[in-house]
Amino acid sequence: MKMLDDQLNLFKQIATETISNNADSRLSPVVKNIIKKNNFVYDAHAHIFDGKCIDVKYFVTRFIGSVPEKFLRRVWRVLTRREREIFKLNEMSREQLLDILYDDKLKIRYDEDFDRYLSELETTVETELKQFNEEKELASILDFDWKNFLGRLLSIIKILKTSRMSKVYKEFHKKYSVQNIEGGDLLTVVLGMDLNMSWGKAIQESYDEQFYELLDLSYRKPIIPFLPLDPRRAEEKNDEDGNEYQFNQLYDKFLEAFDKNSDRNYFGVKIYPALGYLPSDSRLQPLFEICAAKGIPVVTHCGGEVVSSFKWGFDVDRFGEIVRCEGNSRKERARWLNEPLNWKPVLEKHGGLKLNLGHFGGADAWESSKGETAHRKQEIFDLMRDHSVYTDFSFNLEDEGATDNFVQKLQNEDEESELMKTRCMFGTDFWVVLPMSNLLEDTRQFMMKVGNDKKKMLKDNVIEFLGINS
Ligand SMILES: [Zn+2]
Repeated sequence: MKMLDDQLNLFKQIATETISNNADSRLSPVVKNIIKKNNFVYDAHAHIFDGKCIDVKYFVTRFIGSVPEKFLRRVWRVLTRREREIFKLNEMSREQLLDILYDDKLKIRYDEDFDRYLSELETTVETELKQFNEEKELASILDFDWKNFLGRLLSIIKILKTSRMSKVYKEFHKKYSVQNIEGGDLLTVVLGMDLNMSWGKAIQESYDEQFYELLDLSYRKPIIPFLPLDPRRAEEKNDEDGNEYQFNQLYDKFLEAFDKNSDRNYFGVKIYPALGYLPSDSRLQPLFEICAAKGIPVVTHCGGEVVSSFKWGFDVDRFGEIVRCEGNSRKERARWLNEPLNWKPVLEKHGGLKLNLGHFGGADAWESSKGETAHRKQEIFDLMRDHSVYTDFSFNLEDEGATDNFVQKLQNEDEESELMKTRCMFGTDFWVVLPMSNLLEDTRQFMMKVGNDKKKMLKDNVIEFLGINS
């Protein structure tokens, strides 16, 4: 439903008055302290949502979407916990398996009860690992890799089972974050994820609960929190207790998140188009207008298509015009929504908007010059040239081909390499990257490869993107 003009004007007026022009004022004292000591590195893209913020389907989808091909079917059997399949598993591609997961008809054991699911899975994995330790000889590299994978799977289960963002953060800081390699303090940009809006039902913690959990933690730990926005929340007129919002959930929460009179603030916003909307959605534009005016940075997912909308066919809003989401498959539709060029009219409309196109188009865009998303690189460079557009290479670190091409381009000494040196930030995409490989080792390798340019990625470029002055 469209907001009336005078309501919209009132929203903008309140936002203009209650949101500070000074980005530094949105930082927590913990963060300010670390900046003052001036011996720190950034992770510009991380997640600490726990088991209560996701569901069984998200968990399985993440793995099936990203585990090495050689383990795909083995992982499917372990994670879906189904004795028999109605299809021939060996003949299924990764995409087909993802489609089955997205098809609501698949029943996974305990898929309504994520805690129970994780506990059962933990026991299974522990038992298999124990057998490895006690009796099985590691006869081959494959065995060795599988054992390593099971170890990682077990770590992720344990992280998610804690059911507290603070515990997830603690694990991240202790074992996986970049200051374990680079030394000094760590400042982490933590991106919230609003899975509730489009995936809904089985997720235990509400949007509101996650809103406060991340916000509160940011005042205890050196976290720079980003609020997830989903335009469809503009249709929510009442809160959980049935009280009517002044505008709607999307606009009211935005005002609350950035209110200078509140003792705690969010710092930026996060967009995830593949969940079923375009960045040019008319409901988002007033928010981007405020973001541009107040120096609130925006991060968007601009990578792979593993996480997406469930729907088979649906319409999206493009500046108020209703258009069909293009594509003949789930993957194609998600890819269409994630395209960096969807941001071009938004950036033109809101001059000065700071945008991070997360994942730099995705590992596939970097792996080969002939891939279906290879065109994204050039488009991102063009956007960088004309706008305050940044990027991060998170999630792609484990992909050797992508990383090598990235480093090669970085060292080209041309206009594009200059853009990379001044606009690209370091990020991990913890914890969603964990199923793929050993994050800390990948980070170490990446730092070695980028050499002298790492300082800018770890610090200077992030400071520029965030617009921090102190
Ligand atoms: Zn991410």
